[in-house]
Amino acid sequence: MNEVGGNKILLEDFNYDVKIFLDFGINIKDFNNSFEKYEEPSSVKDLIKSKLLPNTEHLSIENLYTNYEASKNPEYNDLETNIDGILITHPHKDHFYGLSFINRNIPVYTGVFTKKIISAYYKCSKVSISNNYGGLEWNLFRTGDVLDIKGLKIIPVHVDHSIPAAYGFIIKTSKGNIVYTGDFRMHGPLSAMTQDFLREITNESLDKIDILICEGTHIHRGAIESENNVEKNIEQLFLENPFDFFIVKYDRLDWDRFRTISLIAKKYGWKFVITEKDAYFYYLMNKDEIYESMRDPNIITDDHILILSKGNAKYRWQEKIRQALHREKKGFRLIKYSEIRDLESHFFFYITSLQKNIIEKINPNLKGAFISSSIDPYTEEYIDNNRTLTHYFRRHGIPSYRVHASGHAMPHHLINFINSVNPEYLIPVHTEHPHFFKTFFKNSEINVIILDKNDKFDLNQN
Ligand SMILES: [Zn+2]
Repeated sequence: MNEVGGNKILLEDFNYDVKIFLDFGINIKDFNNSFEKYEEPSSVKDLIKSKLLPNTEHLSIENLYTNYEASKNPEYNDLETNIDGILITHPHKDHFYGLSFINRNIPVYTGVFTKKIISAYYKCSKVSISNNYGGLEWNLFRTGDVLDIKGLKIIPVHVDHSIPAAYGFIIKTSKGNIVYTGDFRMHGPLSAMTQDFLREITNESLDKIDILICEGTHIHRGAIESENNVEKNIEQLFLENPFDFFIVKYDRLDWDRFRTISLIAKKYGWKFVITEKDAYFYYLMNKDEIYESMRDPNIITDDHILILSKGNAKYRWQEKIRQALHREKKGFRLIKYSEIRDLESHFFFYITSLQKNIIEKINPNLKGAFISSSIDPYTEEYIDNNRTLTHYFRRHGIPSYRVHASGHAMPHHLINFINSVNPEYLIPVHTEHPHFFKTFFKNSEINVIILDKNDKFDLNQN
């Protein structure tokens, strides 16, 4: 087994003669450090040189990447490859963003809804070398399915995370069982899904787990928190609220956070202003909701949600969301940028880091506060420093609050999870503190294996 960076794990089974990747993400922090905002890498070579994509020369991989020049042609005449599949756990960029660059002969396996979100990202941005999902061969699964890739059996099971459509995998190899968690938590509204995953792993019919590849973002540090507390904390603010409006910032695809703030807005008779792009994402989620909790808020019927629209529709997704609203006679909820100034008090304004200047469009007589809410630094789209934002707002007389509930499991949840799985070997990934695992589990039966980029672990030799 090879480990190629935290979120690109190459799994080889020599008996089945199968090679797959578990996730194919790009380290977004490093990507941002290598390329300026809106700047694009010029080639795959560029990305390999800056170590954002793996160099396959020393691995037994043939033709992992697509020929981008050729891929502009819809025929995609990529050469044959010996990679049998890429499995994507969830639609965060540090887990899927490398798909743009892969050989089009490699099948991509992911959840039905996971693919929808990846497609929505793709459709909302300009086609470029790093936003190029044309020609991919998708194979979609749901919880309950069992995948079979040349004899290798993979059982995907949903987990709770800050984004919908996240999965963990149980993999039955010829040499034993492997569990890959992807990213997960136990303190979100869908924590029962992580319990489903654990139940499946500890199911009597399954032999011992040989290797647990476990995310460890927060193994070393945690806050006792929950989405429920986010709601309670913001409500507390409302009890003695001197502000006319709140600017809020969170990961766009953090559906739970969107729902929490929308619920509060509705309860107190406030408006919630989001952009057309946000609305389109949420509209897609409403349309094909996978969980009961994703029907509410409803972009079409919830009149407290106002949608900021810019000029004439340039993109198909803009047309789609506008048509959907007009069809239901909800066009009155589309507001223009020039109308922001007319907003009277009592509104939440959702922003991304690119929209902080929006404050200059709001009526200057209104008093507001900024609520910065859980942003996952591993997935953030652009270089984005909350401190910079806080400073910016401070200059405008806007105080900042921080309300937090992470997408990743807290230390005690991770430890309990690992103890329940009780694997022979534990390989921590997606963590800056892999050695913490080694120290913590030093007197336990669980062997912690620390792998660096390009390191291998062979189950036969251990
Ligand atoms: Zn994630």
